[in-house]
Amino acid sequence: MALRLYAATSSQGKLNDFRTAAQAYSISIDPLPALATIPAPEENGATFAANATLKAVYYSRFAPGALVLADDSGLEVDALGGEPGVRSARFAADSGMVDSPDANDNTDVWNNIVLLQRMTAVPEAQRTARYRCVLVAARDGLPFYTAEGSVEGMILVAPRGTGGFGYDPLFYLPDLDRTMAEIDLATKLSLSHRGRAFASLLPMLLL
Ligand code: IMP
Repeated sequence: MALRLYAATSSQGKLNDFRTAAQAYSISIDPLPALATIPAPEENGATFAANATLKAVYYSRFAPGALVLADDSGLEVDALGGEPGVRSARFAADSGMVDSPDANDNTDVWNNIVLLQRMTAVPEAQRTARYRCVLVAARDGLPFYTAEGSVEGMILVAPRGTGGFGYDPLFYLPDLDRTMAEIDLATKLSLSHRGRAFASLLPMLLL
């Protein structure tokens, strides 16, 4: 492998996405060593870019000399004024539906329930949404590369499919007549926000 990156994410879904996307480019992606022992920084940025940057900069200090990749991503629903946005992982927790987002667990299910509840009265034509992702690669506390990607879709009235994670069973891709939870990982990466962000980051890394 020509280049190695550490990913500062504890999400197996994201790690799989990154690894699959990187394979074709001879880039290896490993989890940041001892990530579980490092206290997480507060993700208090107002934008995906701000959060991705603060995570990449913070975690890169724990792997001197290495390139450390962090992302921030989420769902923007037009009928909800762009919510949940940077609060996507904590949508149900913010609504008071659950005590706190926890990782091992039913967070995705609760987030999807809250999304459906908030959209009960929204007609089909107005259920437009997008996933956004910003990726930042940092080294020794300095951000070096930033890339972003997005994908447009619609929010269904009931979940479909068992693949993916997060809001994927409700995120419908009209061109494919499938939800994100109904397509295989390679197809997902070819069109997803994370895949697109990664595809624009790679040329910068390989320069
Ligand atoms: P982050 O870990 O702060 O980037 O939070 C991202 C949240 O946005 C996740 O917990 C999911 O709820 C949602 N999300 C981001 N990307 C995806 C995706 O590819 N599929 C489904 N949900 C996603």
